[in-house]
Amino acid sequence: MASRRKILVAECEQEISSFNPLPSQYADFTILRGKALFEAHADADTCIRGCLDVLGARQDFELVPVYGASACSAGPLSPGGFDRLSREFLEAIAMATKPDVAAVYLSMHGAMGAVSELDPEGYLLEHVRTCVGPDIPIVVSLDLHGLLTDRMLANCDAIAVYHTYPHNDFTSTGQRAARLLEAILDRGARPVMARVFIPALVRGPELITASGLYGKVIDRAKAMESGGGAMSAAVLIGNPFTDAPELGSQSLVVTDNDPEKAGRLAMELAEAFWADHGKMLADLVPLPEAIADAAGRPGPVTFTDAADAPSSGASGDSNRILADLVRSGYRGRAILPIVDAPAARRAHEAGTGARLRVPLGGTIDPGRFPPLELEVEVERLGDGEYRHEVSRMPAHAGPTAVLRHGNIRIVVVTHPVFMMDRAIFLAHGLDPEQADIIVVKSPGAAVRYFTFACRNYVLDIPGATSANLGSLGHRVCPRPMFPLDDDVVFQPRVQLYPRLGTAA
Ligand SMILES: [Zn+2]
Repeated sequence: MASRRKILVAECEQEISSFNPLPSQYADFTILRGKALFEAHADADTCIRGCLDVLGARQDFELVPVYGASACSAGPLSPGGFDRLSREFLEAIAMATKPDVAAVYLSMHGAMGAVSELDPEGYLLEHVRTCVGPDIPIVVSLDLHGLLTDRMLANCDAIAVYHTYPHNDFTSTGQRAARLLEAILDRGARPVMARVFIPALVRGPELITASGLYGKVIDRAKAMESGGGAMSAAVLIGNPFTDAPELGSQSLVVTDNDPEKAGRLAMELAEAFWADHGKMLADLVPLPEAIADAAGRPGPVTFTDAADAPSSGASGDSNRILADLVRSGYRGRAILPIVDAPAARRAHEAGTGARLRVPLGGTIDPGRFPPLELEVEVERLGDGEYRHEVSRMPAHAGPTAVLRHGNIRIVVVTHPVFMMDRAIFLAHGLDPEQADIIVVKSPGAAVRYFTFACRNYVLDIPGATSANLGSLGHRVCPRPMFPLDDDVVFQPRVQLYPRLGTAA
C-alpha cells in the first residue's frame, strides 16, 4: 500500500484593535502542540474541526497536527510576543515538513497585528512557503473580518472565507478549505486568486448576512462557489480596528486556472458591495436615551456595547454603561461583564458575602474609562473556566466574581474573553432571561444569541472598537477611506495571484 500523504495542519489566530492601549502577550495564547491540537477541535465548531471532518476520514491522507495558537482578541501583540509565537510556529512547521508532506492547511483569522509586524499572517505564510517550497499547496481559512495582504496572497494557493456574520460557519468553512485541498491534490486543480480592494470600512445591521445587504453580496459569492465556477468566493470586510496598510474591504475569487474568470467574478462582487456600502453604517443610540427607554419596558433588553467588544480586540474594561446606570438611578435588574483583574483579586481576598468598596473599570484604558468606585457585595466567586455556549471552546477568564450593586450584577473577569453568548452569565449563576438589561460586549451577538430580548440598543459610547469609526484615529490604513473621508472614489482594479508551483 502506498504511504499516506501527509497534510500539515496548524492554527494561528487572533484579532486585534490597534486602538486598545494594552499590547497582548505570548502568554495570552492557548498553545496546542501535536495531538492536543486535534483533541481540542474534535468536538468543537471550528475550521480545524471542519478540515478533520473532510480529510480525517480519508485513508490516503494522514493529517499531522503541528501547532495551534489562538487568543482572545486584544491589543496588538507585543514585539517579544510575536517573536516567540512566530518562531515556535515556524519551527513546528519546519520540524513537521518532511519529503512526504503533500500539503499544508492553516487556520487563520486575518486581523492579527503585532507592534513590530503589521502583517503577521503574511509573515507566517511567507516563511511557511519558504519552508515547504513552491510546489506544496498551502490552503488557508480566514474570517471575513480578516485583512488580505499582497504577501499573504503571494504565499498561499487558495483561501476559504467565512460566509456568515454573526459567524456560524466555522466548521463548514474548514470543510470548504479541505475541499480546496482535495481539488488540488486529487484533481490537479491549479488555483488562481483574484482580489479587488474596496476603500470602505463598514459596520452596522446591514452586515448581518441573514438579513442585510452584505448578505446579498455573500449570496452571490456562494452561488459562484456552488455552480458558478469559483473554487472559493468571498467579500472580506476587514476588521476596521486593525489599522494596517491593507485595511479595507476586499473581494476574493479563486478559480481553477482561469484568471479571466477569477478577475471578472471578483470585480462583480466588489462592484455589488460598493453599490451598497454607503448603507453599511451603524445606527447608534445615545446611552441616556437607551436607559430611559429601557426603564419603560418590561425587559429583557440588550445593550450592545460594540465599542468595548473583546471579540473585536477592545480592552473589555469599559464601565461606561455601569456608570450611567448608577448615575441615572436605574432600578431594574441589569447584568454586565467587565474585565478588571484587581477587582476580581480583591473580591477573592474578601470572600463570598463580603461587602467592599472597589474601583471598577478603566484598569486597561483609563483614558477612555475613568475608574468608577462602587459599594458592592461579593455574591459569587469562580475560576473563570467554562465553555462558550456557541463555539463550545473553553474560556479562560481567570479568577472571576459576581459583584452586586443594588440590582446591578457585574461579572468581573480577570482576562478578556469573548462576551458574545450567554455563557459568561450562565457560568456565574445569572440567567439573562431574568434580567431587564443585559450588556453584550459584541457588535452583532445580541440579536443572535439573546433572541428572547424584546429590544436591542446599539450604543454610541467610547471604546477601542467603536462603530463610530471616525472617533478612533486611523493613521496607517489607505486614504481616502469610507467613512473616514468624504467623497471616496472607487477605482476597481483586479490583482491576480496565480499558483507559484510548477505542477502542471
Ligand atoms: Zn469575525
